[in-house]
Amino acid sequence: MESEMLTESHMQSNFNTLLIHGGIDGDERTGAVSVPIYQTSTYRQIELGQHKGYEYSRTGNPTREALEALINQLEGGEAGFAFASGMAAITAVLLLLKSGDRVIISNNVYGGTFRVLDKVFKNFGLEYEIADTSNIDEVESKVVPGVAAVIVESPANPLLTITDIGKVAGIARKNGALTIVDNTFMTPYLQRPLEFGADIVIHSATKYLGGHSDVIAGLVVVKDSETAARLKFLQNATGGVLPPFDSWLLLRGIKTLAVRLDRHIENSRHVVDFLKNHEGVTKVYYPGLEASEGYEIHKKQAYGPGAMISFVLSEDYDIKLFFKNVSLITLGESLGGVESLVSHPASMTHASIPYEIRQKVGIVDNLIRLSVGIEDKEAIINDLGNAFNKAKRK
Ligand code: PLP
Repeated sequence: MESEMLTESHMQSNFNTLLIHGGIDGDERTGAVSVPIYQTSTYRQIELGQHKGYEYSRTGNPTREALEALINQLEGGEAGFAFASGMAAITAVLLLLKSGDRVIISNNVYGGTFRVLDKVFKNFGLEYEIADTSNIDEVESKVVPGVAAVIVESPANPLLTITDIGKVAGIARKNGALTIVDNTFMTPYLQRPLEFGADIVIHSATKYLGGHSDVIAGLVVVKDSETAARLKFLQNATGGVLPPFDSWLLLRGIKTLAVRLDRHIENSRHVVDFLKNHEGVTKVYYPGLEASEGYEIHKKQAYGPGAMISFVLSEDYDIKLFFKNVSLITLGESLGGVESLVSHPASMTHASIPYEIRQKVGIVDNLIRLSVGIEDKEAIINDLGNAFNKAKRK
């Protein structure tokens, strides 16, 4: 396995300092080092038509603004926006489109992204088509004039499929379509899609950005001022904003993003070595494996492999018993927290994707997804080993 994917560019770009001091650093009025939680719905106005920049917290709140400024700076965009969940963020971005528009989505995007297009936006005349965006020929043939947007994740959930963001963005731009990248699995510490030509970046900040499994949140960063103005309008008009306390939790979580991810990745490399050599595993998906498809592309566009691993359990093992016997590792939805989490994509995160599509793209019933935490790596491996032993068919 390639061990030195992280490059020096984080140091060059001052990224670690930005994590601590970026956006709006502290509180100007009092000198507080931590941005205060402005738990207020409204603001006293000086006189009719004159206020201090804030009227109502759906429209603007200083704690949320500090977070929005920070994520914008980290992703290198024009403006950032904070929403009440990743899905609220995705919904607000889709509202930039209109009835009759057509969207191309990666074939293994997060199940909720597929669901909101299929079950909600389709009713309002927004059409979608699924494409294997890791296949550039397929992108060329499907992203044609008339397509309004392309939505990709790279690595994509749950098979860690890699899409060449720069190539897709080039094809989209040539045809007048927006490129929207869900950067949840990578975070701006590991990948900054706007640098490769994407127009909009989305995060389920519930995951690595928050990092502690204690907040549901979504973030968006856009690259141009016109889209920023339209999204600002939509955020206020539809109202799915992130509350002040949750904004503060994210500000706090983001400060340790780099140190957490460095440890997540170190642990993941050990877990991947263990899984690769275990007789109970028939396939391992991890962007840090040199033999994995898209390895070179990922290396070109990201600073590290991340800490999500998927693997296929051998038929000689009982998957139900495997899940029943993990103990340190939590069986649960979500990912990106400090604690290791394991899930079953076919019945959990990707259950809303029809069975035939799941089989076709490789989300088989024996697929297990692991979000490697920052506990002691030996403890994670022991827990997996114990679950394998208990799950082996006699
Ligand atoms: N995008 C990805 C890649 C996700 O994994 C998730 C949630 O699991 C979402 C979006 C949706 O985010 P949220 O659960 O914060 O609404």
